[in-house]
Amino acid sequence: MAPSAVQTQDVDLTAAAVHQKDITPTLPSASNPAALDASKLTYTLTTSPRAVPDEATANAGTETICTDHMVTATWTADAGWGTPELKPYGPLSLMPTASCLHYATECFEGLKVFRGFDGKLRIFRPNKNAARMRMSASRISLPVFEPEELEKLIIALCGVDGPRWLPKDRPGSFLYLRPTLIGTQSQLGVQAPKEAMLYIIVSFMPRMDSPVGGMRLHTSPEDMVRAWVGGFGYAKVGANYGPSLMATQDARRRGFHQILWLYGPQGECTEAGASNFFVVWKRKDGKKELITAPLDDKLILDGVTRASCLDLARERLAGELEVTERKYTISELIEADAEGRILESFAAGTAYFVCPISQIHHRGQDINIPMGAEGAAGEVTSKIKGWVGDIMYGREQHEWGVVIPERE
Ligand SMILES: *Cc1c(COP(=O)(O)O)cnc(C)c1O
Repeated sequence: MAPSAVQTQDVDLTAAAVHQKDITPTLPSASNPAALDASKLTYTLTTSPRAVPDEATANAGTETICTDHMVTATWTADAGWGTPELKPYGPLSLMPTASCLHYATECFEGLKVFRGFDGKLRIFRPNKNAARMRMSASRISLPVFEPEELEKLIIALCGVDGPRWLPKDRPGSFLYLRPTLIGTQSQLGVQAPKEAMLYIIVSFMPRMDSPVGGMRLHTSPEDMVRAWVGGFGYAKVGANYGPSLMATQDARRRGFHQILWLYGPQGECTEAGASNFFVVWKRKDGKKELITAPLDDKLILDGVTRASCLDLARERLAGELEVTERKYTISELIEADAEGRILESFAAGTAYFVCPISQIHHRGQDINIPMGAEGAAGEVTSKIKGWVGDIMYGREQHEWGVVIPERE
C-alpha cells in the first residue's frame, strides 16, 4: 500500500477504538433487537428444594455445590435478549458445535453474597462486576447489555436463594455468585456467535484468605507470560485461565500456592494467580508505600477488591503511607528485601479476599516477607482487610454494601 493511502485513512483502527464501538449500547427501538430487561424476569421455583449443607461439608467434595435456582437469559442476533428466567438449578444443553466450546467465546464474573452480622444480605459493589462483565463480553464479541439489568438479575436470584442457603443464624458466611456468558451458536467457523446464553449460579466456595503461614508465591516460568500488551489480560474471559494452569500446577507440586506473574524483560510484577498483587515497603527515600501494578497498559484485571483496597488506603491511611500504581519489577523487590525494606505483601480478589503473602520464590532465591504476630496478616494488610470485611458484613454501613431484599 502506498504511504499516502495510509495517511489518508480516516478510520481509527486501534484496539481501543474498535472496543469502544462494541461496548456502546444501542438503545432498544422497533428496529433494534431487544435489550436485556430484568423487569421481565419469570420465576419457576423448585418443587424439590435440597437440604442445605454446612460450609465444611459443602466444600469437602470434588464438585461445586450450587443453590436451588439459577437465572438464564438467551440472546440471538436477530431478536436480541429473550425473557430472563429464574428456574431450578440444573444442566445446560449445548450442541457439540457450540461456539464457546471451540473458540473460547466465554466470559464470567465472580462476586460474593454475604450474610451480615446485622442479619442482612449484601453484595459488594455489584455495579463494578456488571460493568466489567459487559466489557469482557464485548472483548470477545458476545452481546452487551445494560449493567444495571445484570445487577438486578443477580439481586433477584440472591433474594430467592439467600434466605435458605445463607440463613440468618450463620452470620459471617458467604456464597459465591458466578454470572457467565457463553456463545451458543451451533456452527463451526471462526466468527462472532449469533446466539448466546447468560446464566447466573450461586455456589459454595472455601475460605482462602488465610493459608497457614501465609501465601507462598513462585514467579512465572522465564519463558511464559499470563497476558501481554495488546492482548486481553484485562478481561475476565475464560481464555485467560486454562493456559495458566500448567505453571500453577507445577508450582503447587513444589509447595507453592500461586504464581506471581512477571512480564517483560525486566520482570514487572503483575498479578498473583487470579488476584491482584500488593507490596507494602519503605521506599529508598524512607517513605512508606503501598504499591501495585497499574491498569493503563491493560495487562492486569481491574479487580473490584483491588480498587477498594486502594480507595480505602488513600482515604484512611493518607498520613501513614503513599499509595502508588506503577510498574515495578522483581529486581526492585529483591533489592528492597536485601535492604530490609519490605514490610508486607498481600493478594486481593474476590476468591482470596485479602490474603497475606509470606514468601516469593524467584529463580532459586527466596524473598521472605514479614507477617503479623502469630502468622496473622501484617498491620496495613489487617487494617485494609478489616475495613473491606466490615463493609461486606454490615459492620460498617457503606454505599459499597448493597442490601438485598429477601423473598421469604
Ligand atoms: C477476578 C480476578 C481478579 C480479582 O478481581 P476481583 O474483582 O477483586 O474479584 C484479579 N485478577 C484476575 C486475573 C482475575 O481473574
